[in-house]
Amino acid sequence: MFNLRFNFKNYDDFYSKCNNYSIHECSKCKNVKEVAISAAEIIIEDRIMKFAEIPLLKCTSCGELTLSDYSKKVINECYKRMIKENHFEVMCNKNEFRQKFEYCKEDDLIYDYRDYYSITGLSVDFENSIEGYLTPVYFGKKSVLHFMNDPDYKFKLFSDTYGQVRYKDDWTIPFGINSEDKIVFWLGDLSYIDKTSLNILKPHNVESDHQLTRSEFYAAQICCIWSEPNRELNICYKKYDFYNMVKNTYQISLEHLESEIKEEMDKFQKPIIITEKTIEPTINMLYKVLIEGINVKELRNLYLKVEASPADGYENWESIKLYEGVLKALMKGSIEELDITSIMGPLYLLNDLRQYYDHLLSSEKRNSIKENIIRTFELESSEDITSLYEQLIDGLNMLFEYLILAAGNLSLDQ
Ligand SMILES: [Zn+2]
Repeated sequence: MFNLRFNFKNYDDFYSKCNNYSIHECSKCKNVKEVAISAAEIIIEDRIMKFAEIPLLKCTSCGELTLSDYSKKVINECYKRMIKENHFEVMCNKNEFRQKFEYCKEDDLIYDYRDYYSITGLSVDFENSIEGYLTPVYFGKKSVLHFMNDPDYKFKLFSDTYGQVRYKDDWTIPFGINSEDKIVFWLGDLSYIDKTSLNILKPHNVESDHQLTRSEFYAAQICCIWSEPNRELNICYKKYDFYNMVKNTYQISLEHLESEIKEEMDKFQKPIIITEKTIEPTINMLYKVLIEGINVKELRNLYLKVEASPADGYENWESIKLYEGVLKALMKGSIEELDITSIMGPLYLLNDLRQYYDHLLSSEKRNSIKENIIRTFELESSEDITSLYEQLIDGLNMLFEYLILAAGNLSLDQ
């Protein structure tokens, strides 16, 4: 049980090593440390403390373990008591005691007070005089579905895993999604929301898994680091990078329906849970931005500029075929044996999915599209929707990376 041991020569040694705040960066490999609750034996000179459970900081990359600020404090107190009572060995069993902070005291929320004292930076809080504000409270992902669908709430993800919920003009609070796919709110923030909203969340409240430091939520809220926009919108921004390169090099503007496109992007709500139903808004948004939001006539002109011998029938091509023709022409000779067909695959998939969601289609036609998607992407079944969605988003991202690269290549040549 106690194969983990921290050894200190004497109390001075302990004090000099532990009289400081822990940081969340690993001193060995510079990666992030998360809280890990573990059994450990602490020895200071000739006194042994055996803890059945103590919060440590564990590097998520190299596994290096260090004492958390909370455990340093607990050890310090324990050691002093041993001296006073003349004990040489103590065993501290699992502590069932759950400290409750002043926030949401009557609401019986599940959280671990040790997170507040152990996760770096949370208890160093100069804004809130009452202890415990920045205690993470964890929920299953379904907790926020109601907020996404009820028009009284405004639900927004700034990035893949960091966002905020707003209720009318009454309150706005941030939340994050941690590495274990759980929703995290601050306890103090939850004390400001109305009881009805809190009662929507409560059935989904789960035990803490202590994982927070790696999240964009922690980075933004504690370290003030801006998070990247979500991957879906990132693809749209990449489209603009490509357009700009084309404009600079060829004086061709591919822009089309600009204000409608911007509106689509502004109102876009990233799906929190991936199901056939929840990804429909993403499919619609990306289809409008990437396939409809391009000036087809100008794209054809671009194709004619970059392709010395245009293919038969190009006059009738629509945006997807033209994207493909342009990419093929631009990449000719620069990267050998580039598989243009598979790079283009995600754009065809987007088109298929958009058709699939066209509710005016006959069910026979829809089923045949579905069969085709399952076959092309080698899915187990249409239930394997998460994998399909990942392939789509990653693939579109990659496609626009290639288009930007190709347009960049060419501007260097000229
Ligand atoms: Zn490390």
